[in-house]
Amino acid sequence: MKRIAVLGSSGSIGESTLAVIRSLPQQFKVVALSVNSDIVKLERQINEFKPHLVCVKDEQAAFKLRSRVGSSTKVFCADAGLSEMVKDRQIDLVMFAITGSAALNPLLSAIRNGKDIALANKEALVMAGPIVMRLAKKHKVNILPVDSEQSAIWQSLGGFCNSDVRRVYLTASGGPLRNLPASKFKKVNLGKVLRHPRWKMGRKITVDSATLMNKGLELLEAMFLFDLRLEKIKVLIHPEALIHSMVEFNDGVIMAQLSAADMRIPIQYALSYPQRLVNNLPGIDFYRLNKLHFEKPDLKKFPCLGLAYQAARQLGTMPAVLNAANEVSVNKFLNKRINFLAIPKIIEKVMRRHTRIVNPDLSDIISADAWAREEAACIGVNTN
Ligand code: MG
Repeated sequence: MKRIAVLGSSGSIGESTLAVIRSLPQQFKVVALSVNSDIVKLERQINEFKPHLVCVKDEQAAFKLRSRVGSSTKVFCADAGLSEMVKDRQIDLVMFAITGSAALNPLLSAIRNGKDIALANKEALVMAGPIVMRLAKKHKVNILPVDSEQSAIWQSLGGFCNSDVRRVYLTASGGPLRNLPASKFKKVNLGKVLRHPRWKMGRKITVDSATLMNKGLELLEAMFLFDLRLEKIKVLIHPEALIHSMVEFNDGVIMAQLSAADMRIPIQYALSYPQRLVNNLPGIDFYRLNKLHFEKPDLKKFPCLGLAYQAARQLGTMPAVLNAANEVSVNKFLNKRINFLAIPKIIEKVMRRHTRIVNPDLSDIISADAWAREEAACIGVNTN
């Protein structure tokens, strides 16, 4: 029985994780949950899964929850509470299903305390990949990827090492705006951006998927997770989203991982690794599927991907700056304060103004992140 903490349990990946655990009660037990502020949903989850530990980021909501749950549930609060909760001895594995850079501190805390990590969050790795991976090695902790592309690379590698790899094809559905001409981008509204053709996901990642920044973040994530040089990774648009990525070995053999576009599949594998457990999740019907398509990404139409390449060439503090500027711009777009075209413009400006530190320690990264957030918040851009 694996005892699991699910951080971000009210979000899309969090709920899918609980669905996987619900379907395999002999294998997994929920011992801890966390949410930002949705205590209504959290209370429902507490009643069902009976975790001993919960954390609510919003302090008022945490206070409210404390008065409503029994003494058998310990309620932590705020970011510091989350980093504290993940240390608990009852936890074997922590699922990081929270979005954004807020995952970094609890991630480092969980690793230092020897917890295995199922990682759905990509921002923490983009910010501080080398530091996270070094720490995981030191504490002999497994970082099990949940992001479907990273899970596919991991599975396609099948235990071979990166020196056996000629190339990795990182596939992308192309997002909700793949077929929209670039001339319409300026006026594209939030509703259209949030309508993803293949995946049902949270709002931030869906916007990232429309700008292709999601693929850019995954590019950086793959470099750090698998210790791959940038030149070895090729982004490939594959609209059907059935091949979740591929590894080409030195001898020209390509291993691809295919499965239905359902996040419960990579989530279950990260939880059950090294086992493969029977489930009732959807499969692929090859008789009904007649074609798979592939195309080259258009960096002119999707400048965010180009900016991520730039950060991947420069490394140091630049990926953290890219990520922070992106989080702020996406948030502004979600709050209808800027238009779609302003997202890459803001990120580009912030990156241009940044003085990169080549071998940053954690405090350099945290300062670069804070600096980039402030810059991105006050930058004005002209998209006319
Ligand atoms: Mg992905």
